[in-house]
Amino acid sequence: MNKYNFSPGPATLDNSVLEIVNQNILEYENEGFSILEISHRSDIFENILENTKKNLKDLLNIPSNYKILFLQGGATFHNTFLAHNINLKKSTSNLVTGTWGKKTYEDFVKIRDSKEIFLKSSDISEFIKDPSLAVNQKTDYLHITSNETIEGIQLRNFDQIENDLIVDGSSDIGSYKFDWNNVAYIYAGAQKNLGIPGVTISIIREDFIEQNENPTYLNLSKLIDKDSLLNTPPTFSIYVLKLVTDWMLNAGGVEYFEKQSQDHSTNVYSMLSKYSDHVSLPVEEYARSKMNVVFNFKNEQIEKLFLEESLENNIIGIKGHRSVGGIRISLYNSIDKPAVEYLLKFMSSFFEKL
Ligand code: PMP
Repeated sequence: MNKYNFSPGPATLDNSVLEIVNQNILEYENEGFSILEISHRSDIFENILENTKKNLKDLLNIPSNYKILFLQGGATFHNTFLAHNINLKKSTSNLVTGTWGKKTYEDFVKIRDSKEIFLKSSDISEFIKDPSLAVNQKTDYLHITSNETIEGIQLRNFDQIENDLIVDGSSDIGSYKFDWNNVAYIYAGAQKNLGIPGVTISIIREDFIEQNENPTYLNLSKLIDKDSLLNTPPTFSIYVLKLVTDWMLNAGGVEYFEKQSQDHSTNVYSMLSKYSDHVSLPVEEYARSKMNVVFNFKNEQIEKLFLEESLENNIIGIKGHRSVGGIRISLYNSIDKPAVEYLLKFMSSFFEKL
């Protein structure tokens, strides 16, 4: 590939993964058919499904009292799905640290009562130390977005929050280890750290699952009973998820990617701090995302030039989200060291010219 793709997702995939996909699109492991044609009821696919779950368990250290479910509809479907699967007698609150958490809250309250807790990036470290300051009283479930992809705000130490959590981990799952003690439900679209669009991974603590009369695709307990095969699952996206998780395990697991994201993000943030005459970082240091580095140029013309020159240099996907503007550099797991070195070289030569 001749482009360096720092896009916020769907994101880049390691070449070794693409090569295996490429072979198996033509013919799956000498079986005489393509992976695109595989039946979800075949033994071969059931094997892929089991291995994908095993990989996730190994990678994320998932305790035995959790179930794994693969769904379609993206993380966005979860706003509706979750709100319909939490008993109305239970209370929920939504911690809003950015756009995606806000959207979840707005969808929740169309279906059930929920309390919004808005938090600025400057208040996050205080909140982690003492969530009671903002939550007031305990809520049965607190929904959080561990990484706000648009604003570049990350809530890394959420395992210290004393409340049962529902976590949207779409843009940072698989990039650090966390303790499962307070996690009732975590979900993530695969298309950033774990694969391609089409499949959303849900990992659910057994006590969260309640029977209800919801229609089929909104019925958590029925979907779990059928082990993601209640209807046709996104077979190809699950297959790619298997390949990406194989690749992650071979590379050294989550520890490896945690260190990698720490190194990459530190290098990018340090360079930006060096050129603070020209750029500003909108997020307080404690909450700065190691996955999506967001910054603004102080001069709009220079920002435009930066984007133009980045494209000329084969760097793609770094224009900030249309709602906030600026620049966003996404450093998901498949971004390797040579890619970051290339980016830093481009950035430093750009800044030095100013
Ligand atoms: N949550 C987060 C944190 C996201 O980054 C995104 C997508 N960028 C979403 C939710 C929505 O995901 P989807 O497009 O898969 O519905």
